[in-house]
Amino acid sequence: MDGFKVIDGGKNPKHNQDNNPGRSDNPTLFDALDGEKPVDELDADTIPSWLSATPTPAAPSQEPQLSAQERRWAWAEIDLEAIKHNLKAIRKRIGPGIKIMAVVKDEGYGHGAVPVAKAALNNGASFLGVSTVDEGIALRRAGITAPVIILAEPPIASIPAILHYQLIPAIDTMEFALALGEESSAQNKVTPFHLKVDTGMNRLGVHHSDAGDFLRTISFHSGLELQGVFTHFATADEQDTYEFKLQLDRFNSALETIRYMGINPGIVHAANSAAAIRYKVASFNMVRIGIALYGLHPCELTRGVIDLHPAMSVHARVSYVKPVSVGEGVSYNLTYRSPGSVRIATVPIGYGDGLSRVLSNRMDVLVKGRLCPQVGNICMDMCMFEINMRSSGRVPRIDVEIGDEVLIIGRDGDTELTIDNMARTLGTNTYDICCRFGLRLEKVYSE
Ligand SMILES: *Cc1c(COP(=O)(O)O)cnc(C)c1O
Repeated sequence: MDGFKVIDGGKNPKHNQDNNPGRSDNPTLFDALDGEKPVDELDADTIPSWLSATPTPAAPSQEPQLSAQERRWAWAEIDLEAIKHNLKAIRKRIGPGIKIMAVVKDEGYGHGAVPVAKAALNNGASFLGVSTVDEGIALRRAGITAPVIILAEPPIASIPAILHYQLIPAIDTMEFALALGEESSAQNKVTPFHLKVDTGMNRLGVHHSDAGDFLRTISFHSGLELQGVFTHFATADEQDTYEFKLQLDRFNSALETIRYMGINPGIVHAANSAAAIRYKVASFNMVRIGIALYGLHPCELTRGVIDLHPAMSVHARVSYVKPVSVGEGVSYNLTYRSPGSVRIATVPIGYGDGLSRVLSNRMDVLVKGRLCPQVGNICMDMCMFEINMRSSGRVPRIDVEIGDEVLIIGRDGDTELTIDNMARTLGTNTYDICCRFGLRLEKVYSE
């Protein structure tokens, strides 16, 4: 047997002390690195030939069929039954006759745009809302034929894709409107669009006092068809209603002007989840439901008003567990020290999966129905938690082993770890949290 070539060459500081006593009584790590053989001087002929062999890609038909949980011990579960329940609760709240747009931007707030869109369309939604052309294309490629609105005007260069995939853009600049009209006419098409009106959020949209003129200016265009007019509220989730009412008034005046000019505004919509749940007067012809669809409350004010079921839970399995002696540190920078009576378990989920590093030493995980403190800095791909091995009173001692399931978000019996709580700890909103969990974790769907 060849064995491994030791390249340390006895430069380990521990050995140095013995081998080189005259050099320093107290050698530092930097001293120890002096005289290390540079990497490019290592003998090329000691590299075995198999190391430079190029792997040949396997044919897709030969790929092993493994589930997400078999490939990685961290995943998000999405309960499509909850999505269905939430849509029914929203319908009950807004009453019949008002269309529901399911907002599935950013991968359905991290829940997976296509499965959520399908579940929503099967349970009362008739429109889909996305942020980007690519998100619209992904829905079309998945065979979804429902109207898809791009809620923010995309680049003019994307117009060929909009026409090809029959997406419906929000428009708020004359340049885009004319370019879309030209391209549509050139292709003998009439393209529907929605006018985005700014009533006070000051993010996007034609100023509310210019909305009528804007539409009149482009009304000659045979390639364009106004399908709807909408605005977006900045404060629908706040206790104070002053700014909300101001935006509503401005929107109503803009609509009045549009109608006065003899233009039919089509589908009028304004409400996000908070507005749809709180203010009947904001529903118009359609509501745009994002966060509530996923079972999260847009604010505390909606909590007593509508019963929502969170659709996302986040799971992992213990990938390592060991006792750690008293005083030993855990994870980068050793921000936690073992009290000695604990075992430390590692789970393969980290900030690369949406578990913010800011939560380090500030959150619990749920194992076997018991809350255990997360300890040490959360790493990119994993984090650690503590199992107290001391028995205390009537609480039975628990232990874990490799493979045991750990809840990061979700409910086990009466104990629940919520996205709401995590958002509070982080000083952010629930939207931010669930979008992050959607980035890398594989999603597993249940109905
Ligand atoms: C994201 C978004 C929504 C959905 O808002 P929620 O608060 O998640 O319901 C509605 N309208 C527009 C324009 C949006 O960008």
